Amino acid sequence: MQISSGHLTVECVEGDIANQPDMDAVVNAANAWLQPGSGVAGAIHKAAGPGLEEECRALAPIAPGEAVITGAHRLPNRCVIHCLGPIYGKDEPSDELLASCYRKALQLAEEKQLTCVAFPAISTGVFGYPIEPAARTAFLTLLELADQLRWVRRVRIVLFSNKDLSVHERVLKKVGNNRS
Ligand code: ADP
Repeated sequence: MQISSGHLTVECVEGDIANQPDMDAVVNAANAWLQPGSGVAGAIHKAAGPGLEEECRALAPIAPGEAVITGAHRLPNRCVIHCLGPIYGKDEPSDELLASCYRKALQLAEEKQLTCVAFPAISTGVFGYPIEPAARTAFLTLLELADQLRWVRRVRIVLFSNKDLSVHERVLKKVGNNRS
C-alpha cells in the first residue's frame, strides 16, 4: 500500500532490500563499523561485493542516528546509504535516534539528487526495536519531511515478512488518516 503527502509517496512492500532495482538508493541497517554482518547488512554486502566493504572502511565508525553514503558497487542501485539505528533499551532516546536515521538518510539522498529510496525497518532485527513503534516513528518522520524534499519523490519501506508488512500497513494507514 502507499500514501502520498505533497510530492512524496510513501509505500510499504514485502521483499528483500538487496533486490530493489528500481530504486536510486537502498538503505543499509548498518553496524557502527559498517561491516558485513547478519540481516540487512549481510544481504547488502553479499550482493554488493567486497568493494563496498572497502569503501566503507574509510567512513567508519559512525554513531547511532548517523548516516553515510557510498556507491552501490554490484547492487543494481546508484548508492547505498548506511544508517546506524539505536540498540533498543541501550541507545537513548531511541525514538529520536531512529527518527534521525530516516532524516539523515533523506538529507544525503537530497544532496545526491536521488528521487527514490528504499529503507528496511531499521533497528527492528538484532537491535530489538519493537516493530510497531519503530514503524510509527519511521512514517511520522518521513511524512514530516515531505514538504521540504526537492528531489526525493518515493520512499519504499521493504519488510522481510508478511507479518511485519501487515503491521506497517496498519500504522501507515493510521498515520495517514491522522494527517488528513
Ligand atoms: P538492526 O541491526 O538495525 O536491527 P537487522 O538487519 O538485524 O538490523 O534487521 C532490521 C530489519 O530488517 C528486521 O526487521 C529484519 O527482519 C529485516 N531484514 C533482514 N534481512 C532483510 C533483507 N534482506 N531485506 C529486508 N529486510 C530484512
